[in-house]
Parts: sequence; structure tokens; C-alpha cells
Amino acid sequence: MRAFFLFFSFLYGLLIGSFLNVVIHRLPKRESVAWPASHCPRCFVPLEWWENIPLLSFLGLRGRCRTCKQPISWRYPLVEAATGLLFLLVFHLEGFGIKGIALALFCSLLVVIFWIDIDEMLILNVLTFPGIALGLAFSAWNGHFLSALLAGVGGYVLFEAIAYLSLWILKKEGMGHGDTLLAAMLGAWLGVQGLIVALYFSFFIGAVVGLAMRFRRGKSEYFPFGPAMVIGGLLSLFWGASIGHWYLALF
Ligand SMILES: [Zn+2]
Repeated sequence: MRAFFLFFSFLYGLLIGSFLNVVIHRLPKRESVAWPASHCPRCFVPLEWWENIPLLSFLGLRGRCRTCKQPISWRYPLVEAATGLLFLLVFHLEGFGIKGIALALFCSLLVVIFWIDIDEMLILNVLTFPGIALGLAFSAWNGHFLSALLAGVGGYVLFEAIAYLSLWILKKEGMGHGDTLLAAMLGAWLGVQGLIVALYFSFFIGAVVGLAMRFRRGKSEYFPFGPAMVIGGLLSLFWGASIGHWYLALF
């Protein structure tokens, strides 16, 4: 029975992932996510219902639009599969109650923030503001409101300070306002300890990506920091407790 429910949560994640693709594509352009119906982004021909099935349609169509034969971005099945796996993990760890549903929502927000920041170098307020409010509500329900509030404010202040310092010392913009709000959102969901683990990973990943880009292109370039924060936040959500114990055991 449990295996059946986990399989179902994976399928549910695939469907939500399919919707998140639409959100990622349309939200930065301020288009409606409900209208018009899904269409090929190249030839604009509306999709049949059987072309809208997560993963299977991409495989069945062999990665090409039925009408114009142009390749479909591999990102669509990737977002679907990733969301499916995140849902599977969340419901496996937290069960099928309010906590599982809330954290599945948190993961969905993070998936959207991740890809829009990669595409547009932008973290939208329309995602982070509700994300902060929902995170605080979730933490209040969970009995961790104080830690969440502290982490939310702390993340905000820390990132604002980094932004001021890098403008002052390096004379360039280090962090955007969106990063600041994403830090607050992670704090609201993860609490103080969770945020520390998340930021630890974020800065590590950010440093690795920054160095890799410097080596490849020969000069330092702007790159979005939001995706590193999203991955740090997910690592902290799923493995933060065990990482914390492991780290404390070192002393
Ligand atoms: Zn097409």
C-alpha cells in the first residue's frame, strides 16, 4: 500500500511539474498561466491532450514538435521528473498529511524560482512574498515560529549587509534584492539551523560555479545566485538534520 502511495506521489509530482513548466515560461512575461492552452513555443500550434502527458509525451514524440518538427527543450521533461522525485522524497519522509503537502508546495516554489533565475537573472516578488508568508504560517503550525521569524529576518539582514558591503568595497552589485528575499523565504521555512545549513551549501556551490565560470571564460561574470540557494535549501530540507548531527559530532 505504501509503495502504491509513493508511486502516486511521484505521478502527482510529474503533473505538478508539467504545470510548473508553464509557470516558469509565462510568469516572467506576465502572461496568464491558465490561458491560452499549452502550445508549441515555436509554431504556436495548440497541443493535443496526448501531447501534454508528462515525460511520456516527450518520449513518444522523440523530443520533437508534432507539427513543426523543431526540438522540444529537454528542460520540460527534466522539470517534470525533478518535481516528481521531490514529491516522492517529501511524501516518503513526511507522510501524506499537512506537513507533506506544505513542503511539496515549498519545493514547487523553489523549482520555479530556480529556473526563472537561470533564464532571467530575476527572482520575482510574486513568488518570494507568498513564499515568506506561507513559510511563517507553516512554521507557526509546526511550533517553530520564533526560529522561523528570526531566520527570516536574519537572512534578510545578512544579504542586505552583503549587498551594501560589495557595493562599498568591490564597487559592484554582489547580491540582488531577489536574493535577499529568497534568503528570508528559506529562513521562514527552515528556521535558524536549517537556514545556516542552506546558506553554507549555497555559498559553497556559488563559489564552485563562480570559479568554474572564471576558468572557462577567463574572466569573472555575473551569474544568478538564486539557483545555488535553491539547491542549498533543498539539501537542508531533506538532510539538514543529519548534516547538523554529523557536524556537531566532529567536535
Ligand atoms: Zn511546433
